[in-house]
Amino acid sequence: MQEVKKPRKPLIYYYVIVIIILLLFNFLVMPWAAERQIKEVGYDTFMKMTDEKKIGLVQIDQQENEIVFTNTDEDQVYKTGMVEDPGLTQRLFDSGAKFSGQIVEQASPLLTFILSWVLPIVIFVGIGQYMSRKLMSKASGGPNSMIFGMGKSNAKVYVKSSEGIRFSDVAGEDEAKENLSEIVDYLHNPGKYKEVGASMPKGVLLVGPPGTGKTMLAKAVAGEANVPFFSMSGSEFVEMFVGMGASKVRDLFKQAKEKAPCIVFIDEIDAIGQKRDGRVGGNDEREQTLNQLLTEMDGFETNNGVIILAATNRPESLDPALTRPGRFDRRVPVELPDLKGREDILKVHAKKVKLDESVDFSVIARMASGASGAELANIVNEAALRAVRENRKYVTQSDLEESIEVVIAGYQKKNAILTDKEKKVVAYHEIGHALVAAKQTNSAPVQKITIVPRTSGALGYTMQVDEGNHYLMSQEELENKIATLTGGRAAEEIVFHSSSTGASNDIEQATKLARSMITRYGMSKDFDMVAMETVTNQYLGGDTSLSCSAETQAEIDRQVVELVKRQHQKAVRILEENRGKLDELADYLYEKETITGEEFMNILNK
Ligand code: ADP
Repeated sequence: MQEVKKPRKPLIYYYVIVIIILLLFNFLVMPWAAERQIKEVGYDTFMKMTDEKKIGLVQIDQQENEIVFTNTDEDQVYKTGMVEDPGLTQRLFDSGAKFSGQIVEQASPLLTFILSWVLPIVIFVGIGQYMSRKLMSKASGGPNSMIFGMGKSNAKVYVKSSEGIRFSDVAGEDEAKENLSEIVDYLHNPGKYKEVGASMPKGVLLVGPPGTGKTMLAKAVAGEANVPFFSMSGSEFVEMFVGMGASKVRDLFKQAKEKAPCIVFIDEIDAIGQKRDGRVGGNDEREQTLNQLLTEMDGFETNNGVIILAATNRPESLDPALTRPGRFDRRVPVELPDLKGREDILKVHAKKVKLDESVDFSVIARMASGASGAELANIVNEAALRAVRENRKYVTQSDLEESIEVVIAGYQKKNAILTDKEKKVVAYHEIGHALVAAKQTNSAPVQKITIVPRTSGALGYTMQVDEGNHYLMSQEELENKIATLTGGRAAEEIVFHSSSTGASNDIEQATKLARSMITRYGMSKDFDMVAMETVTNQYLGGDTSLSCSAETQAEIDRQVVELVKRQHQKAVRILEENRGKLDELADYLYEKETITGEEFMNILNK
């Protein structure tokens, strides 16, 4: 579907080039060619040739202070400087030389006048006219309004290839696919909808975290409907010059309307569609572009076959004018895949690689909880790369498991040498987590424990897996999770009676969790169901902003500390009660460096 159209250059380009060539020829080449034929000689040679009557034509150029002359055959031109010589004219006459007006062709006065006066004026007037016409059409909103065609080359053909992507290539995301298949059906058979009087939404907004397949879904809609796919990223519209983005929008829609039915996809629409808040020094270019987009969307009637899909991971920042009915009136959430979705996505991507029969995707999918489609694609690829590194012809289960760890924690550090003591501390730390998790019934079972340092800086980690999908978490589960997070430090305290820096990440996570429980989940007795914090960035890291008084903040801090402290004490208690197992397991891990959840449970239940 890739179409390549060469941008047409305006006629003025050709005029300018021809004029430049003519000028170069006139001013440089001609005189140079003429100069080359002239032989410069001394005045004595000239005198000698005069006396010997060997001069044919002669031209005395007072202005240039030189004499140009030829031999009697007139096939060689000479030049010499003038010297004070009163009898020269008579002598030349006596020698039979012919006084000529012109030996070397010089530019005629008319040509000189044209070149030095008329031509520059014509060029300047031409350029002025051209510019004013461009600016006029820009002001009146003409279709090709650009300054000097700088945006013109970008007014390229926006049709992109949808790369033959079909709905079957997008795994999971069944709800989104169902929603979008209606659009495909409409593009195939618009008559059916017109008959009833139903109109398709003009715009559909795909919202969700990065890498969940929004772009893929848009391509799949075009692929399924077999219509052209126009694609552009929001940031591509925003240019340095105000008005250029708007003209790109116009161009895009003009092309799209010509090719209808078609799909127009605008990726990262928040780049242009952000709320217009009358801030001083706001972004004029962005606002103009957005206005143009709004106008274009209003401008075409429904049912003309142009469907606009847009993707964003910051839906809350979009301008309400953009999301109102009649513009992007349908919102399709494209969320992180659930367990089944992850398994399907892994399978789709695994089609491209050779697999060992032992591979069990459900285990991998369970291990990769919280991973997006893009991350899962990456995991499969990392596994294939690992297989190549190890000179195997197929990907095994362990390749996939290892690549999850690579994606989560980075590569194994080959030459990080821990001292014996450090290794021991790390082993106790990790077993501390695992033991606290295992002893609390509501915590997810341990999948793997390792104390091999990783490039991310982790010296070891305990991987827990959820058995199934988890949509809700109870207060007890959350508290247990905090206890598990504090388990590492608790083990260090019990065994070594000291603390190390290894727990910084645990502390961060535990605090974040405890804070959310109190400020957002209403799990604090004192605050009841009052939100003290709101999430501002749902799909991108979930940043929060506090919305309470300073006193309440102090109270929140106090409660967070208390909550974490309580769970920390619980972890210490659990470990003290199981001190024997703690030592045994830590020794075993110290020995083996990596143990599976099964080995762990075997020792624990012995
Ligand atoms: P987004 O636009 O949501 O950021 P993309 O559609 O660009 O994400 O996805 C990036 C890559 O991740 C795709 O090229 C694809 O390989 C993979 N991917 C993401 N989601 C899925 C999915 N649901 N099924 C299959 N592959 C997926």
